[in-house]
Amino acid sequence: MTSKTKFLPYNQQTIRRAPQWNNFSTEMKHTIEVLSHVLPFRVNQYILDELIDWENIPNDPIYRLTFPHREMLREDEFSQLSDAIRTKKSTADIRTIVNNIRYRMNPHPAGQLTHNVPRLNGESTDGLQHKYKETVLFFPASGQTCHAYCTFCFRWPQFVGMDELKFEARTSDILVEYLKRHPEVTDVLITGGDPMIMSAKALRSYIHPLLIPELNHIKNIRIGTKSVAYWPQRYVSDKDSDDVLRLFEEIKATGKNLAIMAHYNHPNELQTEVAQTALKRIITTGATVRMQSPLIRHINDTPQSWASLWTTGVRLGAIPYYMFVERDTGPNEYFGMPLFKAWEIFQKAYQSVSGLARTVRGPSMSAFPGKVMIDGITEIAGEKVFALQFLQARNPDWVRRPFYAKFDSQASWLDDLKPAFGQSYFFYEESTQNIRQENKIKIIAA
Ligand code: SF4
Repeated sequence: MTSKTKFLPYNQQTIRRAPQWNNFSTEMKHTIEVLSHVLPFRVNQYILDELIDWENIPNDPIYRLTFPHREMLREDEFSQLSDAIRTKKSTADIRTIVNNIRYRMNPHPAGQLTHNVPRLNGESTDGLQHKYKETVLFFPASGQTCHAYCTFCFRWPQFVGMDELKFEARTSDILVEYLKRHPEVTDVLITGGDPMIMSAKALRSYIHPLLIPELNHIKNIRIGTKSVAYWPQRYVSDKDSDDVLRLFEEIKATGKNLAIMAHYNHPNELQTEVAQTALKRIITTGATVRMQSPLIRHINDTPQSWASLWTTGVRLGAIPYYMFVERDTGPNEYFGMPLFKAWEIFQKAYQSVSGLARTVRGPSMSAFPGKVMIDGITEIAGEKVFALQFLQARNPDWVRRPFYAKFDSQASWLDDLKPAFGQSYFFYEESTQNIRQENKIKIIAA
């Protein structure tokens, strides 16, 4: 396969046309069929040809990243759905089973739909989220798909056709109006799905309105994207690749910073020539590239894979930024890890790289009150504790204030933790209770 190849995606219906389909056992084919009823499935020919090592399936990390596996559902859920499909139950019956599983999977964690959507002129703003004072997230409607879907995806409800679970904006009009009234906002993160799925023309139509003089307080435009790993040809050989790069230069020419928030989950994604060329071409426009990923069991759960990802990135000009803890949504029982393990992997990886890669922060949980980083595990006054701090918070006063939780070897998310030293709640909890309470009152009043 050459870097000139045309983008060729496969979904659950068309995957059987891929040449690699013959590598799958009957059981694997059935698993893909069952799982893709619940969670989104999409892969493309570049991933099949160049990123997956077919000698190593099902354990190959990129295979695990893109193809569903049976353990992503609970045993009883898998059997129920599998039986319903095998016995050709009605579409309505299958949909009921599927929806029950989806709602059990906590489709919108951390208050994304209930607490992060801001209001403009008394109306809620579709496709915007404003959780941290200085950053607004924008979800353009035409960017709500990806070049392939990650099996661990925390935004999976965007892709499963349940409209009530989706957020998106058709134009940037509301965003611009909102930003004009919020001079405290300095950063806009354009996210999805994957905004880089859009044509250069569509992307330009969303971004250009942000470059007007009235929005001079917007200093940073960030684009969250996995295209650099799943379809690096986007910056090299697509028919509008050069237009994309020109758009990046135009943004830079206005004096704003353009940050590509690149989702690399595994060092193998950076090994191909086209992936390295893509990175080089992006950096040449003056944009910065930051690397971020969750720590995902079965995919990147060794210190070596993280150290290799960060050092390769630094060598090619990208900046290691975040190691996240796998979120409490979707199939996280399969992909998540205990917090103490996450911290051990982070520490070992961090210890093995030079200072240039130590720009990375983590392991960090994007939880309801904010981004909480595990600073370490230690013993204070005879009690074993997690040392924690907020890197970002709903209330800026909470940021960088150390706090402690009782050590718990089973805990895999902030909600599992209990305060240390006999405290009955964490310092921020009184306020988050107030936020929840205020919201409840608003809903009742409405
Ligand atoms: S690229 Fe991002 S939004 Fe798309 S499937 Fe992967 S994690 Fe989800």
